[in-house]
Amino acid sequence: MKDGAANPWIRALAQLEESAARAGISGALLERLRSPDRVVDESIEIKKDDGSTAAFRGYRVQHNNILGAYKGGLRYHPNVDLDEAKALAFWMTMKTALIGVPFGGGKGGIAVNPKTLSEAELERLTRAFTRVLAPHIGPEVDVPAPDVNTNAKIMGWIENEYAQIVGRDEPAVVTGKPVGRGGSEGRTEATGFGGAHVLLKFLESRGVNPRGLTVAIQGFGNVGSYLALALEKAGMKVVALSDSKGGLYIQSGIESIEEVERCKEATGKIAGCYCVGSVCDLSNKEAMGGKEVSPSEVLSLPVDIIVPAALENAITAENAAAIGARYVLEMANGPTTAEADALLEARGIEVIPDILANAGGVLVSYFEWEQNRRGEIWTKDVVRARLKERMERATEEVVHEASLGGLSLRDAAYAVAFKRLSGGA
Ligand code: NAD
Repeated sequence: MKDGAANPWIRALAQLEESAARAGISGALLERLRSPDRVVDESIEIKKDDGSTAAFRGYRVQHNNILGAYKGGLRYHPNVDLDEAKALAFWMTMKTALIGVPFGGGKGGIAVNPKTLSEAELERLTRAFTRVLAPHIGPEVDVPAPDVNTNAKIMGWIENEYAQIVGRDEPAVVTGKPVGRGGSEGRTEATGFGGAHVLLKFLESRGVNPRGLTVAIQGFGNVGSYLALALEKAGMKVVALSDSKGGLYIQSGIESIEEVERCKEATGKIAGCYCVGSVCDLSNKEAMGGKEVSPSEVLSLPVDIIVPAALENAITAENAAAIGARYVLEMANGPTTAEADALLEARGIEVIPDILANAGGVLVSYFEWEQNRRGEIWTKDVVRARLKERMERATEEVVHEASLGGLSLRDAAYAVAFKRLSGGA
């Protein structure tokens, strides 16, 4: 368990108390939000390919269901623990309320480095985890989704195992499934694309032209890669990218995000992906004026916008002073500590908060759940148009709330969420 500022649950609770006090929230609602409704915390044993057994800890936190079924991702990462899951579940409660979908907040995962498992071991682990979760999940109860190191294939295994346990097809038990097996068109890219809609709407509210603005993104997984593609399409200049192994910085702008993506897929890392046309290698680096950067350095580059899109605690009291950007788009959950938040605010750096910026994923998860329940299949165009409309509307609501009360965007986002949770909007 992490201590103090690094413990996301301690941070989430502090955020709750502060924003509730500002929004005048107290009594039963505040009391309920202070602790999760239920926690599943169990050991999961699997057979490895070599015949030995291995045990892992699996968690599911059901934080709150005032507005509907618990909803939130499953993360496979060595740092997963109960406090992290509690914080992430709390943020889901606030996020689903903010964007106005009939869900509550949940989160979970397994403390494991999935890269150390074979695909067959990963499937056995996921199916064993599903057997642990089965009594506690269901389309009207708790609906998991992908998060760090989990994807459509893993959601498909969960859906299949759950169907075997309950003896009927229940596609709406999980979202982020493969298209063709109950998954929605447009879900994979929803969080990244949704973040781009939020950023563009926010810049419009500030009278800032997005064209040519420079962007540095930490984390080039599902979220970071689709966001980069969308910002490139909007005419912004993505100049730096990183993953857990390292990153690159090209002051004049990355020529093609798609080529970097292809290179990362082929080489397993971003570092070294200096692409000219379809040729990506280190020999292009000097001619491009490229520079290797560490995963954390990406956030202190001299750019207009930085995007933490990896894990929690990326912006802390230690590196906040080095941040030179005008805006922070929080695509990861909980990337900024409270101390760093205060330091950024004092310097006039605006932070677009996680519960707004990355809500596109859960929004399209809601679209998937609706399609499953109604037996409908929406086209990619319909999903994308609805995503854009809802993300822009949520952004306008938060910007409006902030301007009314002289609030930071984070406090404004919490204020909107509290209104819905207390039945006021
Ligand atoms: P992912 O596993 O697809 O990608 C994570 C990326 O972060 C990888 O590129 C990894 O190499 C990189 N990374 C890990 N540690 C790093 C470090 N220290 N420095 C730099 N990069 C690092 O995960 P994802 O789905 O893209 O999720 C990223 C973040 O977005 C998480 O905080 C997640 O909770 C949040 N989020 C995801 C979704 C979704 O729909 N996938 C929705 C909302 C929020």
